[in-house]
Amino acid sequence: MDDLFRFADEIGPLQLAHIYRPSTGLKAVVAIDNIACGPAIGGVRMAPDVTAEEAFRLARAMTLKNAAAGLPHGGGKSVIFADPKMPLAEKERLIRSFASAIADLVDYIPGPDMGTDELAMGWIKDENGRAAGLPREIGGIPLDEIGATGLGVATAIEVARGFIDLELKGAKVAIQGFGSVGKHAAGFLGEKGALLVAASDSKGTIADDSGLDVAALIALKAEGRPLSDHSRGRKLGPDAVIDIPCDIWIPAARPDVINEGNVGRLRTRLVAEGANIPCTLKAEEALAARNILVLPDFIANAGGVICAAMEWQCATESAALAAVEEKIRVNTRAMLEAARRSGILPRAAAMALALERVHNAMRTRRW
Ligand code: NAD
Repeated sequence: MDDLFRFADEIGPLQLAHIYRPSTGLKAVVAIDNIACGPAIGGVRMAPDVTAEEAFRLARAMTLKNAAAGLPHGGGKSVIFADPKMPLAEKERLIRSFASAIADLVDYIPGPDMGTDELAMGWIKDENGRAAGLPREIGGIPLDEIGATGLGVATAIEVARGFIDLELKGAKVAIQGFGSVGKHAAGFLGEKGALLVAASDSKGTIADDSGLDVAALIALKAEGRPLSDHSRGRKLGPDAVIDIPCDIWIPAARPDVINEGNVGRLRTRLVAEGANIPCTLKAEEALAARNILVLPDFIANAGGVICAAMEWQCATESAALAAVEEKIRVNTRAMLEAARRSGILPRAAAMALALERVHNAMRTRRW
């Protein structure tokens, strides 16, 4: 058996396409993991050091995320081996070459990921008619601008609070990372009466137990300035956000920020994972042992992909936001009820839910 089949299991991957175009220098791999729920949707990652294995693992993560989100989509992902900072004209040529090369892979809908953006999705759509995460002018819904993922995080928290008897009005929130996810989560939670007591960016943490001015912090970031430029609050190092006592702690920056080495420092009741894999599995287990509820990334931060799927169906912006709220509300509740029933971690319950949906969908398919 060829080594390429080492990833194969009862779900997929259905197809691993190795793409090379000598004329443009394009080198890419497309992984279509599973399409039982519908055509695979997943990002195009451009970086010099990506691997085929990464494409497959990210595609599997998308199969589970899309199924957990209740979307009519399977999982896929592609990687292009190149430096995303190349001159724009060169990048356009490479992306268009990629789009033309995958024209026949009709079960895969590309979206933006590291190293690609809305403009790149516009080029792909122009070449082969198939891409999500498009510029607004050609039917896109700008999910970062409207805060789709932040809305999803806030919605998941609103459902979870009922499971730990936490009142959102006056609840203290600390957020690590104040970009597209973090700032919008702060805004939506503020609308529900929660109090932002700490926020951090790569430069530092700003903290105020009586509550920070969310709108002023968002305005500051829009000017490209660090949070520490804010006139009020205590100025601390970037890592200090982990130590802030709060009711809700939201990682919205980097992977693996909470691990066995620092998980004991968190003083909170609820962790809502806005970032992807911000806590190691061991850290999630340690939090569960301390009775701290963790809402796993692929349930809590699915707002972006739900929005992209709605864009694919030509939905309006308000319909997309309504879908984010509805789907995350239903899935968070289903996950937490299953976790409580079976005495397992929410992540394990969400995984079981996603796998059940994929297997049920596979039973409806002929092949
Ligand atoms: P972003 O680039 O807009 O913002 C990232 C923020 O994190 C910035 O404020 C940056 O200063 C801060 N940051 C970086 N390093 C930090 C550090 N060491 N300590 C504190 N803050 C730090 O990114 P984003 O779109 O908000 O995404 C954040 C995370 O959420 C990523 O893991 C991303 O993969 C994930 N995610 C994003 C979306 C989305 O819709 N944007 C959807 C799902 C998951």
